[in-house]
Amino acid sequence: MDSPINSQKTVSDDDEIDYSVKPEFYDSDLDDKDELWMISKRDGRPSDAVLSCPACFTTVCLECQRHEQYVTQYRAVFVVNCRVDKDTVLQEKGMPSKIGKRRRDSEMQETDSAESEKVNRVFCSACSTEIGVVDGEEIYHFFNVIPSEP
Ligand SMILES: [Zn+2]
Repeated sequence: MDSPINSQKTVSDDDEIDYSVKPEFYDSDLDDKDELWMISKRDGRPSDAVLSCPACFTTVCLECQRHEQYVTQYRAVFVVNCRVDKDTVLQEKGMPSKIGKRRRDSEMQETDSAESEKVNRVFCSACSTEIGVVDGEEIYHFFNVIPSEP
């Protein structure tokens, strides 16, 4: 469209499908979803979903935010029907080797993540299914839950 090159090799371009341009219906669908997401944020609605235990369907969280990249993960501060295992402290993501390394590599990042390196496991208080973890800043990270519309 805005490229002068196109006019010079019209023949070859005619035969090829330009995969960089998405079909219209696909694009607009994405836009709609983005817009809804933005609206819900602007309205100050703090929750992306209601989370339930995958085993007994007990509601474990009413206000959460979906992880930006891992859409099956949710962060929350206020939870219900959760039991925190205070006795067992896990190293985040089960990668203890990175801790000593990171401390040297990026001192600045470490201040942010130092607290969250240690996490406690979180269980459904009704059936004791493990549903996530809580970090040192008391942010709950759910990865074994069933989301539903708030
Ligand atoms: Zn449960």
